[in-house]
Amino acid sequence: MTGDNTRMSVSNAGTEVGRAGAVLSVDLGAIADNYRLLGARTFPAQCAAVVKADAYGLGARQVVPALGRAGCRTFFVAHLDEALALQHCLPAGGRIHVLNGLPQGAERDAAAAGVVPVINSLGQLSAWRRCASATGNRLAATLQVDTGMSRLGLPPGEAIAIASDPALLEGIEPVLFMSHLACADEPGRPANEAQRKRFAGLRARFPSAPASLANSSGIFLGPAYHCELARPGAALYGINPTPGKPNPMRQVVRLSARLIQSREIAAGAGVGYGHDLVAAGPARLATISLGYADGWHRRYGAAAAFWNGHRLPIAGRISMDTTIVDISAIPRDCIEAGTLVDLICKQQDPDDLAAMAGTIGYEVLTSLGRRFHRRYAG
Ligand SMILES: *Cc1c(COP(=O)(O)O)cnc(C)c1O
Repeated sequence: MTGDNTRMSVSNAGTEVGRAGAVLSVDLGAIADNYRLLGARTFPAQCAAVVKADAYGLGARQVVPALGRAGCRTFFVAHLDEALALQHCLPAGGRIHVLNGLPQGAERDAAAAGVVPVINSLGQLSAWRRCASATGNRLAATLQVDTGMSRLGLPPGEAIAIASDPALLEGIEPVLFMSHLACADEPGRPANEAQRKRFAGLRARFPSAPASLANSSGIFLGPAYHCELARPGAALYGINPTPGKPNPMRQVVRLSARLIQSREIAAGAGVGYGHDLVAAGPARLATISLGYADGWHRRYGAAAAFWNGHRLPIAGRISMDTTIVDISAIPRDCIEAGTLVDLICKQQDPDDLAAMAGTIGYEVLTSLGRRFHRRYAG
């Protein structure tokens, strides 16, 4: 795998890739495979794709068309502006839903673009109704009900009020009835079944709208959670939807950074800010071109870089633009300035990094920086 690291640095010297401090490779084929795997698992329910936050940091303008080619027609983002920016990437017949609902006054723009708002409150519902009446169009809407997360959605009582008063849906076509699970990544939690039951009771009041409950982990809680449409995000991007068990998803991301400089140090030398590390003996170090400003968090201190099967532990504190690694384990003169080493790879995936930093793979991906050269394969 990494004999090709050195070649890559040489053959691309002087190109954009050659100048970039780090390269983020996104395997769109793996995302499509992950989509098909989740689709097979949820069948006969449909499978949507959550592409909020720029497809979890990986690039929604590349990811959405790839998912479209894999058969996905329903997409979710958090913000209206994310939806508007992706309109031209949608497959024919594709539709995009806005999870956070619409900002006040943005209803006309959303309606003109055919974006579907997720209605989380009676206020949002009445604004959408007024927009339908003003434009003379019947407008699609997704109704979200809060079944026990206390984050977004209509309280059950308000959902029941809507179901029993047709005037509240005047001019509106509910195209989806949804809720979100709070504890889906912990299958043993009774909260899952409680939310599922509450949701089943409420959705029965909206018989014409398809229902949707499961995120990535929710899909793995079993068919009772699939309803008519599942809404995975993280699993599409390779994050393990079944924490504590083997990851059924394909890895999507590879992050490599360039070696800028190497040096030999003697016992007693201080390494990096604060001299957090003082060399116990002679060592060889290399400095690579990424740091916490690239989303390579300071809390990844227990991580390593990988080159040609060798593990190169991080030495001292991670800086803003640079990270020092210990290359004592590899033969002298093997790697030189320009060589790429791997930071996110088979040996160290986003979930591994998350575990070191006390966070989740989601945050590892959405933190990935803007300075990388980005490559899309597949
Ligand atoms: C983010 C989000 C999802 C996707 O969740 P994953 O855990 O990434 O699969 C689904 N539904 C809602 C409402 C969300 O906010």
